[in-house]
Amino acid sequence: AQERYASIRDVETVTQCGTRISLTMNAGLMADLPSLENSGAEGVGLFRTELQFLIRNKMPTRSELSSIYKHVLDSAGGKRVVFRTLDIGSDKVLSYMKPADEPNPALGWRAIRVGLDKPGVMRMQLQALLRAANGRPLTVMFPFVAQYDEYRAARAEMDKAIERERILGHALPESLEIGAMLETPSLAFAPKRFFEEVQFLSIGGNDLKQFFFAADRENERVRKRYDTLNVSFLTFLQGIVERCEETNTPLSFCGEDAGRPLEAVCLAAMGLRALSMRPASIGPVKSLLLRVDLGAVRQVIEEAAVSGEQSVRRAVLEHLRNMS
Ligand code: PEP
Ligand code: MG
Repeated sequence: AQERYASIRDVETVTQCGTRISLTMNAGLMADLPSLENSGAEGVGLFRTELQFLIRNKMPTRSELSSIYKHVLDSAGGKRVVFRTLDIGSDKVLSYMKPADEPNPALGWRAIRVGLDKPGVMRMQLQALLRAANGRPLTVMFPFVAQYDEYRAARAEMDKAIERERILGHALPESLEIGAMLETPSLAFAPKRFFEEVQFLSIGGNDLKQFFFAADRENERVRKRYDTLNVSFLTFLQGIVERCEETNTPLSFCGEDAGRPLEAVCLAAMGLRALSMRPASIGPVKSLLLRVDLGAVRQVIEEAAVSGEQSVRRAVLEHLRNMS
């Protein structure tokens, strides 16, 4: 399928209205890395580090992790890689680190909550990342941050890890970017200080949508009732975009919807300028983005909303079909 899009692989993603959209890929396994070259991705917008933990039957060591991360950075050849710290719990359970039975795992002890309550593994991981970077730029993102304090505490762990490395005389990253995933509605309403302090945000649409609609992402019966192109959800995303614009906080979107052409166009029309997706989606998403005028799509979205439609899907689809 990627061959079909080979002719646009190295073309910059600029829409008909002249808006540049950055397209990056999601990854997590070594097997994903060749796609960085083949897909035309500008970098790795989401590296899911838990996959390396999930494919093992025991906890990886710091040096194993460090050599994996080094290999990732080497393969990226200077392209930006956003390493997301361990996101376990809920749908991602480690056989050797099972959480106690929880009535609602998706709302339970997962991701950064585990990282902050039992910081041993997160500390090891941060150290492995710093060593892998070995003087190169490093980008780290914390998953499932629900409030400013959690980001502050995670950031403090990173600062401590850096201090430790400095004392040990190891090379520190040339530059360091620390960000958070916005996956809970609460974070969209965090104090302005949070938006000023965080170096970037990435919307984890899979989780954000499940909490916005209170519909389990793993349960087709309820998940399918709620469309991403639902007017309420798009309005919510618009609010996040506006808050980020106000504080100049770089914002991306890395949930599965970023890789669906129609959804991607609507996200761009709502103001998102960076989308991260599975590598095979980059061609189809880029191909459509190159042909659209985002202002026109935005107008279609707004008109559909005013007319009281629950989802803008039908209206946007019709607009795209009629595009010359
Ligand atoms: C998300 O929630 O949208 C996301 C990108 O993270 P994951 O799918 O790994 O939970
Ligand atoms: Mg998530």
